This record gives sequence, structure tokens and C-alpha cells, in this order.
Amino acid sequence: MHGYSDLQLETLGDAILAYSADRLKLDPVPLDGPRTLAQLDAAAGTTITAEGIGGEAALDLFARDLAPACISTDHPRYLSFIPCAPTEAAAMFDLVVGASSIYGGSWLEGAGAVYAENQALRWIADLVGLPAEAGGVFVPGGTIGNLSALVAARHTARMQAAHAGRTGAGARPWRVAATHGAHSSISSACDVMDAEFVGVEVDGDLRLTGENLRKVLLEHGPETFFAVVATSGTTNFGIVDDLASVAAVCQELGIWFHVDGAYGGAGLAAPSVRHLYAGIEHCDSFIVDPHKWLFAPFDCCALLYREPALARAAHTQHASYLDVLTGTPDWNPTDYSVGLTRRARGLPFWFSLATHGTDAYTEAVERTLEVTRFAASEIAGRDYLEVVREPDLSVVVFRRREWSAGDYQVWSDRLLADEFAFVVPTSHEGETLTRFAIVNPRTSEDDISAILDTMA
Ligand SMILES: *Cc1c(COP(=O)(O)O)cnc(C)c1O
Repeated sequence: MHGYSDLQLETLGDAILAYSADRLKLDPVPLDGPRTLAQLDAAAGTTITAEGIGGEAALDLFARDLAPACISTDHPRYLSFIPCAPTEAAAMFDLVVGASSIYGGSWLEGAGAVYAENQALRWIADLVGLPAEAGGVFVPGGTIGNLSALVAARHTARMQAAHAGRTGAGARPWRVAATHGAHSSISSACDVMDAEFVGVEVDGDLRLTGENLRKVLLEHGPETFFAVVATSGTTNFGIVDDLASVAAVCQELGIWFHVDGAYGGAGLAAPSVRHLYAGIEHCDSFIVDPHKWLFAPFDCCALLYREPALARAAHTQHASYLDVLTGTPDWNPTDYSVGLTRRARGLPFWFSLATHGTDAYTEAVERTLEVTRFAASEIAGRDYLEVVREPDLSVVVFRRREWSAGDYQVWSDRLLADEFAFVVPTSHEGETLTRFAIVNPRTSEDDISAILDTMA
């Protein structure tokens, strides 16, 4: 199969590039939608045979039957969960990364890629306000980013406890403090690590504050915690915790301060909301997913550490066949997270940053904030709708007065079936609501109004 002839390679290559170019030029892209297993069985059937069906037939099959059964996350009216709307530059460069067989785990094998990825990480570190020594790695997503940061935090806390000669209860800190509004990946990481998630009450504005945090830490014993997780943009509401007061408590009690900015970290690039992040510069670790609000394709999470050596101590895998890599002072990305083999998944993001420049990122993030503010004011101006909480960032949660949970679902299903929009219900304190997450600069005021009209 590696012996594809030049001619076959050229024909298939042209077809693949043409398909990709056409997809990137579509405006708007089709929203598409799910099919049942029976429908896919009927349409596509068995695709893998002993002899193979050939690249062109497989591509045709993908284009005809499979691609339309996948919702386009970059459709301007895809406002569910957190959309993913990569720049064309980033999406195109993903093809280059795929074609290049780069091993992104070590400097020895991928120096050029790692060099470029590190410049992209540095741009983010500067937005956060981290020192020159800060560094990290691009991992598949926020879930692995959070887990990796917490593993580094726990390793550090346990080394410190051992160093201080502490024994007995609390000598091996096992607790993590966060709010219940923190992303589900935090409690999932705790499960994986067999750590205990301790919930902290939010304040009246749904934020984690130093005051509430301090109470919980003192109640359980600060020495039993290895990390505090604050969120800079919760997924459901886009709420930024009171990072400055949380940082102060972490500093006072000597606990690792992790900031989960998987969705909301991108707002650091936007001057109109930058003040909300005050205190973030004190974090020990931080994540942001460029595949959410920084216009990179799946899958891409930037994970940064204030002191990368602490993460390296926790994550470096040792094996005789790896000595040639781990025995050097080189920057090996794989030493900073869970995982070994890695795709140089930061490169599409790097390429787009290099292509457009960072000002374009600021403009694009500000544009989505502008459309979000428009959405909030449109909702407020329509008597059948009500904003549940004024948006901090680019998520707005709202209520359709007099609708039951079933009404939201019927409405949402109809929008998708009509390929008009993808907006799913959410819930808060037991009440069914709905929500717009606006991270696509192509989402316009007209899109918002058109969707709101369907709720009248
Ligand atoms: C999306 C999200 C995550 C998880 O990120 P994945 O890339 O989906 O693994 C974690 N935290 C927050 C705040 C998120 O919005």
C-alpha cells in the first residue's frame, strides 16, 4: 500500500486537496446533522474489505454519506457546548502537519516543531503574565491538561511534605478544592488520581472567592490539599472566578494554584474583559484550549507551568530506551504531561498566529464579545425572554418564559432538523434553560436575531 504509484498518488492527492479546499471555501458551511445507525448502515454499509475499495471511492463515500452525518462545529449558528471555528490558515496547516510525519514529543526528533510550538505557548504565557522560565506543552484537550497540571501539583506537594519531614495525616496531600461550577474534568481527574474533590460554595455572583476558599481549606486542614482550581470562564456561564483573592489564599497557605481557562482563557487577548482576570499572573499552572475560542482545529490545549521543572519531575517517563532523550537538558514536550507519543498539535495554531499576527486574534475575540453583548441586549429587549446572568465573556444563558423542559427540547430538535441552527438546552439549579456560546467570529447579529425569532 505504500507502493501507491505516482499517478495514483497524484490523482488521490488532488482529490483530497480539492475536497479540503472546497470545504474551507464553503460559506456558509452546511450545518448537517446526525443519522441513525440504520440510516448509516443503509447508506454506507461495510466500508472495509479485504481488497480495499480504493482511495477515491472511500473519499466519495466520506463526502456523500459520512461527512453530512457530522455537525459542522464551525457553522455560524452552532452555538451549543463550545463550538470550534478554526481559521482557514490553521485548518490548512493541519494537512501539512499530517503529511509531515513529525514526532512532537522530543527536541531530538521534532526540534523545529517544538521551537514553533514554544513561541505560540510564549504568546499565551505573556497574556497570562507568567515569568520567562514558564513553559509547557500542547495536549489533546482541557481534560488532559487539567489532569496533567494536577498530577504535577500533587507530586510537588508530596515532595514538599516529605522534605519537611511531615508524617502522619496530611503528609501525602490528597485533596483538591474547586467550586461545583468547575468543569467536570476536574472531578474526573480526581477520580483518576484517587484524590478527593472538595467543593467550595460560590458567592452571590457564582464566583469562587478567597474568603469562601479559605474557610474550606482551614476546615479540612490546608496541609491535606495539593491544589486549588479556579476557572477563568466556566463552560456553562463563562464566569471568571475572583482570581486575585484565590491567589492570595493559595499563597498564604502554600497551595498550588491552577487556573482552568480551557474555554475562557482566550479572553486574556481582549482588552475589554482583561480586567476580569486580575490575579491570574500568580497561577502555578494554566490551561487554555485553542480549539475553543482561539480558532485552532481539534485537538489542542495549551498547558503552561510557572516552574516547568516541577512538572518534569512528575511526568518524565523513564525507560532504558528513552535514556537518549531524558538524559539531555533539551526541551522535551512529552515531559510535561500525561502521555508519551505526541502529534505536534500546536503547529496549526502556531501557523495561524504567525500568519495573521496577534492583533487579529484580539480583534476576533473582541468581535465575538460584541456579538454576545448584542445577544444579551436583544434577549433583554424581548418580553418572552430573560437573561439568567449578565455574561462575563461570550456565553449567555437565558430563559424562554413559560417553556417547560420539553418545549426547549422540541424547539432545539426542530432547529437542528431544519439545519437552521444548533442550540441545545442547558440547566441551572434544576431549571431547564438555553444558552449561546459565541466563539465564532462569523456568528453575526443577524444569526442571533434569527434564532431568537424562532422562540417567539
Ligand atoms: C471544555 C472545558 C474543559 C475540557 O476540555 P476538553 O478539551 O473538552 O477536554 C475543561 N475545562 C473547561 C472550563 C472547559 O470549558
